Amino acid sequence: MVNLDFAKGRTYAVMGLGKSGAAAARALARAGAAVLAWDDTEAGRSRVVGMPGVELVDLTVRGLGDVDALVLSPGIPHTHPAPHPVAADAKTRDLSIVGDVELLLRALPDRRVVAITGTNGKSTTTALIGHILAEAGLPVQVGGNLGRPALEFEDPGRDGVLVLELSSYQLEITPSLAPTVAILLNITPDHIERHGTFAGYIAAKRRIFSHQSPGSFAVIGVDDEPSHDVAEKLRRDGRRLIEISGQEQVVGGVYADHGVLIDARTGQPKRIVDLERAPALPGIHNAQNAAAAAAACLALGLSSDAIAAAIASFPGLAHRLERVAVTGTVTYVNDSKATNADATARALACYDPIYWIAGGRAKEGGIEPLAPLFGRVKRAYLIGESAGAFVRQIGDACPTVLCRTLDSAVRQAHADAQKDGLRGATVLLSPAAASFDQFPNFEMRGEEFRSLVHDLTGGDGGGIGGGIGEHRRAS
Ligand code: ADP
Repeated sequence: MVNLDFAKGRTYAVMGLGKSGAAAARALARAGAAVLAWDDTEAGRSRVVGMPGVELVDLTVRGLGDVDALVLSPGIPHTHPAPHPVAADAKTRDLSIVGDVELLLRALPDRRVVAITGTNGKSTTTALIGHILAEAGLPVQVGGNLGRPALEFEDPGRDGVLVLELSSYQLEITPSLAPTVAILLNITPDHIERHGTFAGYIAAKRRIFSHQSPGSFAVIGVDDEPSHDVAEKLRRDGRRLIEISGQEQVVGGVYADHGVLIDARTGQPKRIVDLERAPALPGIHNAQNAAAAAAACLALGLSSDAIAAAIASFPGLAHRLERVAVTGTVTYVNDSKATNADATARALACYDPIYWIAGGRAKEGGIEPLAPLFGRVKRAYLIGESAGAFVRQIGDACPTVLCRTLDSAVRQAHADAQKDGLRGATVLLSPAAASFDQFPNFEMRGEEFRSLVHDLTGGDGGGIGGGIGEHRRAS
């Protein structure tokens, strides 16, 4: 584990004891800091009970007198919609508020950092970059918002790279961030409640570029207007910029053109890889992620060939268009992470014909926006609370089966798909709804799908890129 020597003899308050908060408390205490820790939930508090050097105390009652800094979990608001009382206390005392990634960066100020943000695709791009660098033989530590908490990282050493997924919330509490390569994938309205306005959200995302040194690179997806504007501004400021796109040619950039990844940084377009070779990265959205990852790794000096080979061997992330089995003509895909219509639209756009399993706790608008894609659906199997509503929204656009449970839906979809034996058929779980009506979380829903499919197809997932698991998610 990384040593937080700078913390010795100081007093830290740690508010929010998820996995990252608990890891921060442990690392600070080990370094010889006095640590006062609290979480509003029992589950959080239980993570530090008995942890040496960590005192569990209700910080909302005790206050932050004699504390040197507040370590805040990125899930806890410090501005909008209203600051948490402990964050408000820190502000009135003019204490610095930092996140766990800030502590990591202070401990390892000289390491190369690739930082990734954006509204969508952060985890995929982060995992892909980690995979490419590791395949190229570089010592690499990957995590942040996804996967391993920053304060469980090892020091990758002078040649190594820290690959960090950062949500906009984390960017606000990571003032030392000065990435060698900073990536902004895309910006669409999201989480506005936490940033006040869309402009506030964009400003939070732009922070990823704020402290970069002149030799470093800014990689920006230019497929949406707000990101395009950010790129223009950085260009005017004379920054080293690599523009990327998942769908169109970008002069001087890195992009996917009809599914082929191209490096045009020198002005002379050179082919990197045909994304057909990367089964774990289907769809235009993943082409954007692949272009960003390739641009970052080219900036770090990797060869185009090394990048191509690693993109092709990427196992993908669990629960995001994860191929779990292939039997006969049918591929089984777990996209349990798709909890809204927007995410499911990307999945439906990847396959044809589809035996589509959907439903759960619906978001506002349900599956209305998916209507243009219903032509690809051979039959829809509806589950969960929203089953009836989704059947009505589909109407007679395609045949529907009211299944209620995932178990029944997978059995029927499997039987129909195998009976039809159509070429390129896909049994797809992409619910367009949250899981909470029937499952504790989307991961458990996806795991049940995977195990039902394996029971029915007699597979254990061996041979198919099993997908990289994950441990936690912040937004
Ligand atoms: P994040 O970490 O930003 O939530 P993920 O990589 O976990 O992103 O992907 C989550 C979902 O977002 C995917 O299932 C897919 O539907 C969608 N997605 C992934 N990459 C992109 C992208 N580049 N643009 C738009 N949507 C994307």
